[in-house]
This record gives sequence, C-alpha cells and structure tokens, in this order.
Amino acid sequence: MNVDQSEIAKFSALAHRWWDPNSEFKPLHAINPLRLSWMKSFVNFEGKKVVDIGCGGGILAESIAQSGADTTGIDLSEKALKVAELHALEVGANLTYRAISAEDLAQEQPEQYDVVTCMEMLEHVPDPASVVRACAALCKPGGTLFFSTLNRNPKSYLFAIIGAEYILRLLPKGTHEYAKFIKPSELVHFTRAASLEMLGMKGLVYNPVTQVYSLNDDVDVNYMIAVRK
Ligand code: SAH
Repeated sequence: MNVDQSEIAKFSALAHRWWDPNSEFKPLHAINPLRLSWMKSFVNFEGKKVVDIGCGGGILAESIAQSGADTTGIDLSEKALKVAELHALEVGANLTYRAISAEDLAQEQPEQYDVVTCMEMLEHVPDPASVVRACAALCKPGGTLFFSTLNRNPKSYLFAIIGAEYILRLLPKGTHEYAKFIKPSELVHFTRAASLEMLGMKGLVYNPVTQVYSLNDDVDVNYMIAVRK
C-alpha cells in the first residue's frame, strides 16, 4: 500500500489536539478559510458529492460539508478519523469518514465524485503520483480537483522547516521531510499524466511578523492547484 506508517503514527499521536486552534494544527486552522474561499471561486459545493483525501481531523472536510456538499473524508489514521467523527457530532455536521486509501476507494467508487480535494497530504506519502491518479479516477468527468503541498527549493526549506519547526515552532520538529516536497512543475506533471487540465494555482503565504496567512501569487513555499478532469 502507498503509505508511510511512520507518517500515520506521527499524525495519530497528535490527533487529540486536532481541533485545538493553538496546537500543532494551528496552521491548518489558519489556512482553512483561505483555501475554502479559493475553492469556492471554482466550484459551488451546494449539493455536490465531495471526497477529501487525507482529511485528518476533518478541518477542511467539515467546512466543505457545512458548505452544503455530500462529503466523505478518508485517511489512514484511525485516531484522526475518530477525532473527526466526534467533532462532527459535536457541531452537528453531517459527513462520512472512512479509513481507506485513495487507491482502494478509487477501485471501489470510480468516477463517483464531483469534487476531490487532497490538501497537505502528498508530501507525506511514498508515491504522490499514485495518489493523484487515484484522485483522478475518483472524479467524475468534468469534475474539479484540488491539491496542495509544499514546494521544494531553498526558500521553502528555510520557511517550512527551519522557520516553522525550529524558529517559530509552529510545527513539531520532523513534521516535514524536505526531500518529499513537490515542485509545482512536478505536481502539474502528475496531473497531466492523469489527464487533468490545469485551472489555476495559488500560493499560501505566511507573514511571520503579522502572523497572518494570505492567498498570494507567490508559490515558493505552500501552494494549491485546481484542475479539471
Ligand atoms: N488534509 C488535512 C490534513 C493534512 S495532515 C488538512 O489539510 O487539513 C496530513 C494527513 O494525511 C494526516 O491526517 C495523515 O494521517 C494523512 N495521510 C498520510 N499518509 C496518508 C495516506 N497514505 N493515505 C491517507 N492519508 C494519509
């Protein structure tokens, strides 16, 4: 299976803190409204069938469900999924969570989803191209897919690892492995190989002085792409 168990263990160990806005997951809470609004510039979630791959504790999946979509979140961390389920119950969000890989779900439910999202996950798997292919297979023809990850260059090493893990301590040391970061050209290559058509790309930029994230055309560190099948 296309999974690194040490990555799953890392996220499972922190799972109980997923919805604490001041925890290790603070950056995901901070970027969520930005990425959700960027997605909404491409798709109206109302009534759509959506799957979120590598959903973790459900920060994005829940907000998509609350935007009116029939939403499924999948992950391989059972602990993260339990936290996601409990939180959904707490806030009365209606969505489904499942412990299954993207590749297996694609076998089971090909071309069933209007929208596929896969955020901040590809840099944690051994074979990201395989996940992109599975996402493409899950998507209906004409559907939209969103991916996000970390770029690989000296600046992203400085910001995403040295800055975030060692100086600002936004993330635990060892959260990210530089060699697994993915350049936009590589991600676009994976999507083209899966016959997906590019719609747009956007950077998520953190200002360490104001401590605020913003959507930006600078894709040097954290970035997202939108593609169509
Ligand atoms: N997508 C969420 C969480 C990102 S954290 C968000 O952006 O808010 C990365 C998540 O990927 C973790 O929950 C981790 O358990 C999951 N993950 C890592 N490898 C995976 C794999 N091979 N299959 C499914 N999920 C995986």
